[in-house]
Amino acid sequence: MRISNIKFTNLQKKTNKTDIFLTSNINHTILSNNKVTGLSVNFPIGTTCQPSKVCIKTCYGLTGPITWPTSLNKQVKNALLCKDSPKDFAQKIIEEITKYSAKDNNFFLRWNGVGDLFKEAVDAIHELATKEPSLPIWVVTRIPEHAAKLADLLLPNVFIHFSLDEKSMNRKEKVEKLLTTKKNNLFYSYQCDKNETYDPISFISVVFADKYNKDFISEVDETICPLNTNENIEGMCNKCRRCFNGDAVNYK
Ligand code: SF4
Repeated sequence: MRISNIKFTNLQKKTNKTDIFLTSNINHTILSNNKVTGLSVNFPIGTTCQPSKVCIKTCYGLTGPITWPTSLNKQVKNALLCKDSPKDFAQKIIEEITKYSAKDNNFFLRWNGVGDLFKEAVDAIHELATKEPSLPIWVVTRIPEHAAKLADLLLPNVFIHFSLDEKSMNRKEKVEKLLTTKKNNLFYSYQCDKNETYDPISFISVVFADKYNKDFISEVDETICPLNTNENIEGMCNKCRRCFNGDAVNYK
């Protein structure tokens, strides 16, 4: 077994533990903060993701603080609460974001800072987007079934960022076979493999080099995510906003 596969298996074991506290929900906060992408809703990688071979090698969710027990417990608890009641989960998010959206008209929320979609998460996003129609919700996913379901809801403030790479290009066809709508808010990004130099692909709206190393980008155009080309990336998604202001959707 590859080292990276072992990491995924270990995460799965950790996040399947039944001793995760479920009894005291009072102090649980759903949202997590990331200095690059802002506030996000995170779920456990081990039980929600369907990783491709490239994302097993390049996933940022396999190292650092995001893999520490406090973060893993939070992700697991989020999944359990969301599965238990998507509506209550959405309501709790609304309560948590109030203090941020009151201060910042440009407030946005990322869904799946780590982790991926599942049925009840789609239901919770539906509830949240309907109750907060001016909140941009940026949903990152690699799962065709759930991505298509969410896109077909035609929620104007939900932007579905479908992540592809060299080993998972067939997922584009899978999503498109499942979609029943054409004018939806779904777009495709491309994650380069280790040492892969990006060769432009027409339908890709956002490109990430491995470790954001711009040396692997042959041609810099509007599809190249600024995380690849800037030294200081703190707060970059808030400044750029392509993934949740309609620019990436309209590029396809
Ligand atoms: S394109 Fe912009 S919003 Fe999207 S990931 Fe890159 S910096 Fe963030």
